[in-house]
Amino acid sequence: ALRHGTTSGRGVCRNHCDGPRQAPEPRSFAAYRAAGGYGVLDALRDDPDAPARILELIATHHAVGRAGVGFPVAEKWRQVMAAAGTPVIIVNVDEGELAIFKDRFILESDPHGVLEAALVAGRVTGADAIFLYVRDDYAPIHAILRQAMSDVVAAGLTEGIAIELRRSGGAFICGEETALIASLEGRPARPSERPPFPTERGYLGRPTVLHNAETYFRLRAAWGAAPDPAVPVSGLLDPQAAVFSVSGRVRAPGPKLAHGLARLEDLVELAGGMAAGARLGGMVVAGSSGTLVAAADCRRPLADLLAEGLRLGTRGIIVFGADDDKRAIAARMAAYLARESCGQCGPCRVGTAKAAHVLAAPEPLDMSILGDLSTVMGEASLCALGRNAGRFLGGLSSSLAPSNP
Ligand code: SF4
Repeated sequence: ALRHGTTSGRGVCRNHCDGPRQAPEPRSFAAYRAAGGYGVLDALRDDPDAPARILELIATHHAVGRAGVGFPVAEKWRQVMAAAGTPVIIVNVDEGELAIFKDRFILESDPHGVLEAALVAGRVTGADAIFLYVRDDYAPIHAILRQAMSDVVAAGLTEGIAIELRRSGGAFICGEETALIASLEGRPARPSERPPFPTERGYLGRPTVLHNAETYFRLRAAWGAAPDPAVPVSGLLDPQAAVFSVSGRVRAPGPKLAHGLARLEDLVELAGGMAAGARLGGMVVAGSSGTLVAAADCRRPLADLLAEGLRLGTRGIIVFGADDDKRAIAARMAAYLARESCGQCGPCRVGTAKAAHVLAAPEPLDMSILGDLSTVMGEASLCALGRNAGRFLGGLSSSLAPSNP
């Protein structure tokens, strides 16, 4: 069986779940503290006006969620504070989507950057519990986080807030917020209808703040934390910076920090160039819920592609070569989506399986079938997995059309 994130088709995981570390040793609690880390918690403890001030700083900073939708963080926290019940904070490190490994990189580098922001979320909203929901095959991250949790508890920074690490199954759907909460509650990880949104009724019916690790990490810029050159991932505190998970036919796959990326092709250079013997054929952008982008478009200004509707999502990039079979790549993506569908609703369960079958079949491709599946899945799927899968199939109509170079 292929492992999580496999893109090579040779049974080798390109997602670095159990591969070599992508970052130097994590910054220790002592080093983080010495650089001013956790200072904001002192203010939150001593100054009754601090929570409102921090919330305002986050709003002014225009901090948004980094899971693809870009919902304003301050608005989410305000909704939680307005709801009935004691809030809960969740850090989503399920990272189950194909070819995404940026949260792993962040936590391998600077776990306290995430923990501090989660504690700030707890103090500002009045939460009494923080759950770190971490995919099961991120064993090194479990060890790093357990050490970090033990350090902050020993330093007395968690008074009144329980922190718990929970292991997720690592399925793509476990990262969807309502499925994640169901999983935390001990139920099958299946998405549910919204409203009610988790901000109003989430974990055990309580108002819940849920962000991924990158969202928490970047929040620190709102209250003045500055990038530290000794900790490369702290460059993410620059609003112009973004971390891309680059895999596929490149010499040095892994997380790549980019500042104001001009063209998608620049990511190939950041990843050490194309693998030996390969020429750029294109990229799958935004992982399994994304788009097949042809090489010519990878060389155009990224701003133009975004204006035309390209979505970067959580910035998973799979680079493929000019000799790679785009239909075969699309077939593997569709098979992945069919495996990861929770099966709860028909358009997604049947549509992903049908798409995988059609794409893998030896017959000439019938574009109208992909178009129909895309429409139905986009309009009638319950959660983002099915809707984005429909979007992915819709994009194939142009990228796999026979006239496409
Ligand atoms: Fe499950 Fe797919 Fe429906 Fe989402 S869209 S609830 S993954 S069957």
